[in-house]
Amino acid sequence: MDEHGHCKDYLKNFCDFIDGELPAELCEQLKAHLAECTNCTIILETLKRTINIYQSTAESERLPEDVHSRLLARLKLDDDWITKGS
Ligand SMILES: [Zn+2]
Repeated sequence: MDEHGHCKDYLKNFCDFIDGELPAELCEQLKAHLAECTNCTIILETLKRTINIYQSTAESERLPEDVHSRLLARLKLDDDWITKGS
């Protein structure tokens, strides 16, 4: 899949997308990409679930900065997997 080259760009926006802080234009682009990219859809679902767990265990409405960083660090590990593709 040639689209995989763009995945990293979209991955960077996932946290903002979930937080509802992504600008509308980028949001639409991301949704369009998700419609075609199974990898990103899976990662987004995983990320959402992870955030839900954090939010239900911690009472804070927003993720602390270090949690964001850790999630992004994990996504970077997954980048390798995405780039290789199949
Ligand atoms: Zn993708």
